[in-house]
Amino acid sequence: MALDEDLKEQLTEKEYEVLRNRGTERAGTGEYLKKDDEGFYRCKVCGNKIFSSDTKFSSGSGWPSFYDAIEDSVDLREDERGGMKRTEVICAECDSHLGHVFDDGPEPTGKRYCINSVALDFEEDKNNE
Ligand SMILES: [Zn+2]
Repeated sequence: MALDEDLKEQLTEKEYEVLRNRGTERAGTGEYLKKDDEGFYRCKVCGNKIFSSDTKFSSGSGWPSFYDAIEDSVDLREDERGGMKRTEVICAECDSHLGHVFDDGPEPTGKRYCINSVALDFEEDKNNE
């Protein structure tokens, strides 16, 4: 796993702020917000496959939203920063911050993974064309 010093070189300032300092991109600005192509979303730091486009939905929150993550791809951690009790979503491989998960998502899981676009890399699934 790359050291944070190396990641500072590898990532843009905005990416580093979200992934390694648990920041949040501005609502409505993410490049994947309205994306609906078939494919997979990977962790920008380590390439771990996190979400499938099959579970992406439009939540109106201003961030890309998914109702499920790929099995074992993420860890969840309680986050009480700012006086809010939330559940943080981190990459199970490299501990990078991806976003938060809430309990107001659609069926079948009822979950809403609210994720920063800058934390992800999209990979088009060419087999499904
Ligand atoms: Zn990762």
